[in-house]
Amino acid sequence: MAETLDWRGSRQDAASRASAATGRDVIGSGISMRNVVKKYGAFVAADRINLDIEPGEFITLLGPSGSGKTTLLNLLAGFQTIDGGEILIDGKSIAHVPTHRRGFGMVFQSYALFPNMTVAQNVAFPLRMAGVDRATSDRRVAETLEMMRLSEHARKTPSEMSGGQQQRVAIARAIVMRPKVVLMDEPLSALDRRLRESIQIEIRELHQTIGSTILFVTHDQSEALTMSDRIAVMDKGHIIQMARPVEIYRHPQSRFVASFVGESNLIEAEILENRGGKMRLRSRAGYVFEAESRNGAASGAATVLVRPERIALHDQPSANTVAATVTSALFMGETLRIEAVMEGGETLLIRCPDTAARNLPEIGTRIHVSWNAQDCWVLA
Ligand code: ADP
Repeated sequence: MAETLDWRGSRQDAASRASAATGRDVIGSGISMRNVVKKYGAFVAADRINLDIEPGEFITLLGPSGSGKTTLLNLLAGFQTIDGGEILIDGKSIAHVPTHRRGFGMVFQSYALFPNMTVAQNVAFPLRMAGVDRATSDRRVAETLEMMRLSEHARKTPSEMSGGQQQRVAIARAIVMRPKVVLMDEPLSALDRRLRESIQIEIRELHQTIGSTILFVTHDQSEALTMSDRIAVMDKGHIIQMARPVEIYRHPQSRFVASFVGESNLIEAEILENRGGKMRLRSRAGYVFEAESRNGAASGAATVLVRPERIALHDQPSANTVAATVTSALFMGETLRIEAVMEGGETLLIRCPDTAARNLPEIGTRIHVSWNAQDCWVLA
C-alpha cells in the first residue's frame, strides 16, 4: 500500500507541471517504457520497446493486426507480466503494483456492461467498489453522465441502448474515478462509420476536459490521425515511428509508415542533382521532376512519396506535366479516385475534389498530371 501511495504521490508534480505548460487542467501521469520485452514462447510480441508519454497526452498505438498493440496495453494494465525492461509511471516502476492498484480506467471493444444494472448503476460501480460515500457517488455519476450526454438514459438498462450509447456508458464508467491513465483498446471498431466519427470527436473533447493521459489502440489510421496528440506506429513488435499526426502523414520515416498511414504513391527515382535538399529526379518511367526534401538519400536511387491528393490533373500538357492514361475512375462523393498509368508503366493514384468543373474521366482517357516539389517526400 505504501508503495502505491508513493508512486501516486509523485504524480502530482509531473501533472501540475503539465497543467502549467498546456494551460489546461492535467491530472494524467507520465508513462515510460524502457526496453520492454514480451515473449509468447519463442515469439517476441514486444521487442525492446522504448516509449515516453507526457502527462495528459493522447497517444495512439497504430499498427496492423498482430503488431503488438494490445500486448503493450496489457503489460501496462498489468494483465500480463513483462519478460524484460521496465514500465515507469511518473518515474516509478510499477512492476510490483497489481492491476487493481494501478487505478487505470479501461475501455474495450466489447462494452462489458453489467446487463442487470441500470446505466447509472454501471457508472457508479467503480465508486461503490472504492467505498465512496453515496452523496459523492451520486454527484460524480450525474456529472459524468452529463459529460457523456447520457443523463436522460440513467435509468435504462444496457439492452435498451444502442451500441454507440452502450460504449459511451462504458467510457463513462472508465472515467468516473477521474483516473490518471485511461487505456482504450479498439473501443470504436464495433460501431458503424458515422457513429465512430462522432464518438471520436467526443472522446477527443472528453480528453481535453478530464486531462487524463489516454493510451488508445487502433488499426484504423484515420481514427489515429483524428484523435491523437502523437501516434506510435507499430509493426512486428516494434515502434517504427512516433510523432504528431501531421508529421507521420507528411514525413513518414519508412515505406511501411508511408503505406500504412494514408494512401501513397511511392515513385522509384534516380537523383540527378541535389543542391542542399533541392533535388531533380528522374522516375523509372523517365519523368524528370523536382523535389524539396532534406530527408533520405543525397544521391543515387530514392523512393519519393507523393500523396494522391497532392497530384493535380490538367487537360492540356505543359512543361511540368507528365502524360498518363486512366485505368480506373470512381466517383466517391466528395472526391474522385482515379488510377492512371504514366508513360513507362508506373501507376499513380490520384484523388481530386469533386467540382462542377470536372467530370469523371473515361477509362482510356489521356490525362496530364503534375505535383509540386514541396509535395514530394524522399524516404530515408
Ligand atoms: P495487436 O493488438 O497489434 O493486434 P497483439 O498484441 O494482440 O497484436 O498480438 C501480437 C502478437 O502476439 C500476435 O502475433 C499474437 O498472435 C501474439 N499473441 C498475443 N497474445 C498471445 C498469447 N496469449 N499467446 C500467444 N501468442 C499471443
